[in-house]
Amino acid sequence: TSAPPARADRAPASKALFDRAAAVLPGGVNSPVRAFRAVGGDPLFIARAEGARLFDADGAEYIDYVGSWGPAILGHAHPAVIEAVREAALGGLSFGAPTELEVRFAEKIRELYPSIDMLRCVSSGTEATMSAIRVARGFTRRDAIIKFEGCYHGHADHLLVKAGSGLATFGAPDSAGVPESIARTTLSLPFNDPAALEAAFAARGGDIAAVILEPVVGNMGCVPPEPGFLALVIDLCRKHGALSIFDEVMTGCRLARGGAQERFGLRPDLTTLGKIVGGGMPLAAYGGRADVMRVVSPLGPVYQAGTLSGNPLAVTAGLATLERLTPALYERLEKLGASLEAGLRAAAEGAGAAACVQRVGSMITLFFTKGPVRSWTDAATSDTKRFSAFHAAMLARGIYWPPSQYEAAFLSGAHSEEDIERTIAACREALAA
Ligand code: PLP
Repeated sequence: TSAPPARADRAPASKALFDRAAAVLPGGVNSPVRAFRAVGGDPLFIARAEGARLFDADGAEYIDYVGSWGPAILGHAHPAVIEAVREAALGGLSFGAPTELEVRFAEKIRELYPSIDMLRCVSSGTEATMSAIRVARGFTRRDAIIKFEGCYHGHADHLLVKAGSGLATFGAPDSAGVPESIARTTLSLPFNDPAALEAAFAARGGDIAAVILEPVVGNMGCVPPEPGFLALVIDLCRKHGALSIFDEVMTGCRLARGGAQERFGLRPDLTTLGKIVGGGMPLAAYGGRADVMRVVSPLGPVYQAGTLSGNPLAVTAGLATLERLTPALYERLEKLGASLEAGLRAAAEGAGAAACVQRVGSMITLFFTKGPVRSWTDAATSDTKRFSAFHAAMLARGIYWPPSQYEAAFLSGAHSEEDIERTIAACREALAA
């Protein structure tokens, strides 16, 4: 197979839009990873999406494994979700006053997440994690937090310390504009390292307000927790008067209806949700123990608010999505995931590539390193040049894989067995190219 042609030749409309975008948006995008800098080449501009398919500005069709970075678990433009949003829109877009929809949404989340007694709706995952940490600090009256290298929790100041995703991709350990005094309140530890966690608590246990983590990491590629690691986090927090925060913005409703905590049978003190719970609209939430959540204004002294929080259209899209998260959907995702995992692994072995495939449910990563990848140190040994070539070759074959080695790919209920077969065939060719 010959090398794929330069993308600009194949996608002139995208190229023209990217040129225009570059004049008005930094890097031509509204979120850095969309710029394809990690893999080179220009990004495709998307005109529309349906089911497991993306259609770009040039009319080309792709099998999508990004799923809007997680939300699209039912596939794009699910007719029932679209219809619900259309109907809600006719009743007004935003009121800035309470609605029954928000109550129904909160009740539904509480039903799916037994660890959540009370919650607050916000508009992005960043707001959810930022607010959960403020709540933890307000509740414990402590300032320090622990996070893990390679975990990404949005772009709040105190969470941009050795974060994964875009930052890992760009090789920057931190962001300009984050005051050192704030970064200093964040302790960054290696994921899956019980000894490091125990040592941190032994040294600073009385200062730590919270430990935040992705229970299955997606933002350094898919990295599952080692047995016992998540339970240790919860136990140590309890022992030292800190709060455990499971950031399930990505894993929530993806690894099970009740997220990673359902899958592993655990109960964190606080949970953050986003992506799927908003059904593709700007909606996220944080919640947990009632005694902790009672510190939130207007009940308590922790201030947090939002003009569009609990927006009726967003909550409607969320509810319509949550209602469709059936056991059959997760069985299907598991089956498709297992096929894709086996196919990618066989393709990599066939090509003699130093690679490993890691998957939990419908989150999957093909790492270009021998593996297993258990931490950011392991992930960072990946051959990102090889990944870039792989990404371009997949794109040329109609497969829209995440444009970074350090982003998990997602399956949806709209992917078919045939989609998976085509993807595996493309992978075999891409690795040979
Ligand atoms: N937490 C996790 C685990 C995420 O994956 C993300 C985004 O990818 C965020 C938080 C931030 O969410 P948002 O991009 O909606 O601000």
